[in-house]
Amino acid sequence: MSGKTRNQWEMRDPRDQYPQPPFPEQPQPKPGEARRMEPQPDHGEESYVGLGRLKGRHALITGGDSGIGRAAAIAYVREGASVVINYLPDEQADADEVIELLRKEGGTIHAMPGDLKDEAFCEKLVADSAEKLGGLDIVVNNAGKQVSQPSILDITTEQFVDTFRTNVFAMFWICKAALPLMPPGGSIINVSSVQGYKPSANLLDYASTKGAILNFTKALAEQAIEHGVRVNAVAPGPFWTVLQPSGGQPQEKVQHFGEGHPMGRPGQPAEIASAFVFLASQEGGYMVGETIGVAGGNPAE
Ligand code: NAD
Ligand code: MG
Repeated sequence: MSGKTRNQWEMRDPRDQYPQPPFPEQPQPKPGEARRMEPQPDHGEESYVGLGRLKGRHALITGGDSGIGRAAAIAYVREGASVVINYLPDEQADADEVIELLRKEGGTIHAMPGDLKDEAFCEKLVADSAEKLGGLDIVVNNAGKQVSQPSILDITTEQFVDTFRTNVFAMFWICKAALPLMPPGGSIINVSSVQGYKPSANLLDYASTKGAILNFTKALAEQAIEHGVRVNAVAPGPFWTVLQPSGGQPQEKVQHFGEGHPMGRPGQPAEIASAFVFLASQEGGYMVGETIGVAGGNPAE
């Protein structure tokens, strides 16, 4: 893939930097494995070059095995942070890939698999991360569940509750447990979506959670800054991750993912990693309660 082998600063036309649709049909059961995607997503494995922006920081990233969370994990470790990634036990193979890559480079990365739908697990994850890392400076609430359904009549209560537990409740439980442990200068980053302000009909429950994340972020930001901790959000547009082929979109949409956007292609996780670095680092020191959209020409209104 052309984008992978050159560093992220080299100037080029972004429209043809990465694969464009159509893509092969590739259904997977949830949560899905990035390593089985075709074409392979670029998480910055071969391109992200760190500058020490997060030297000595301790970070927890949920959903850090694949997709946007993996790209953030690679960037954070290469910027000098030590990192814990959380993911579901079924995703061990994806987690092993990123852990092996970063450890080989001398990075510090730990695995803490488990289900974020469980409040007690979220509390333990935060406490164990702080203990293992020797502190907690950065929390990225990135894990997410997205299940496409044509109609409200197809959304079961179980799906509705699970989507809210994963996307909203877990963020609440993790923030609540983490804030008292975080020092001034700390940073919480929540992952919303373009769906948070431009909902699609087939993502009714998911889009509702992503709207909730935006308001939660703004309100919590006002509280947390009183302790010197900044809270912000990132709102991705269409990104080439396993969230989509594992039931997040109908297969026809996956095959044409990113089509019709001004960029004519989906984003690759590597193209959003710097937003997470900026918000976590002191360079983002005046960013409080903000949302950074990275959406390939589909900006927030
Ligand atoms: P992904 O599937 O690679 O990552 C999502 C991760 O969420 C999974 O790897 C999994 O580890 C984690 N997860 C899901 N349920 C969990 C649970 N119960 N317990 C623990 N972990 C759980 O896909 P991604 O696209 O990188 O998703 C990351 C975030 O980006 C999500 O919040 C998603 O909503 C958001 N997002 C993605 C897109 C996109 O187009 N890919 C667009 C907007 C927002
Ligand atoms: Mg995954």
